[in-house]
Amino acid sequence: MGIDQPGPPDASHQRRIGLTGGIASGKSSVARLLQQDHGLPLLDADVEARQALAPGSPGARAVIDRFGPAVVAPGSAPAAAVLNRAALGQIVFHDARQRAWLEQLVHPIVRTRFAQQLQGLATAPVVVLVVPLLFEAGLQDQCSEVWLVDCDEQQQLARLMARDGLGDGDARARITAQWPLARKRPLAQVLIDNRGQPEALRDQVARALGGG
Ligand code: ADP
Repeated sequence: MGIDQPGPPDASHQRRIGLTGGIASGKSSVARLLQQDHGLPLLDADVEARQALAPGSPGARAVIDRFGPAVVAPGSAPAAAVLNRAALGQIVFHDARQRAWLEQLVHPIVRTRFAQQLQGLATAPVVVLVVPLLFEAGLQDQCSEVWLVDCDEQQQLARLMARDGLGDGDARARITAQWPLARKRPLAQVLIDNRGQPEALRDQVARALGGG
């Protein structure tokens, strides 16, 4: 195992909940409950992936080197390495090869940052790892259990369009860039059903946490 791997749950018997799902299936909503209702520490791969491409970072520079002025934020000089994330999204969600390139850049940075954060949380009995591409990246071994936040595909599409202000085509491109929920469902130990009202999540989360 490389130094940048978080490593599987170890002798400390730390409970590591891998929280995954599809884009807009409700991961953030469940994560908020775990944090606010239950006070659990949270590591979020999306947050770390954004940090990996933060203004002026080596990651942002690498992206600008590859894609050129089209991915530089309006009004910023290329040398400042500030990304136009919408423009980058347009490229990578319509071109699997470019998406794979971006993922090989970002994933190791995220893993390193997770490893550092987990070191700081070594004595916490429970931690939550929010990882949208957990199964795609084969990271389930890093968790002691995996929870999947589930909903129907039509709901996922409608919620994604509403949340991110996307048209049908752009939203579908983002959904099909991931494994479908149907493929992920049988791989999870816990299914959190988010087909109903958001309020229905609270009890399910408490049960899943209590039931272990
Ligand atoms: P994810 O983190 O998986 O991408 P979010 O938790 O951000 O998903 O949820 C996606 C969007 O759908 C958000 O705007 C959220 O407020 C909304 N949403 C989440 N759960 C429900 C629900 N049960 N009913 C209606 N809207 C929901």
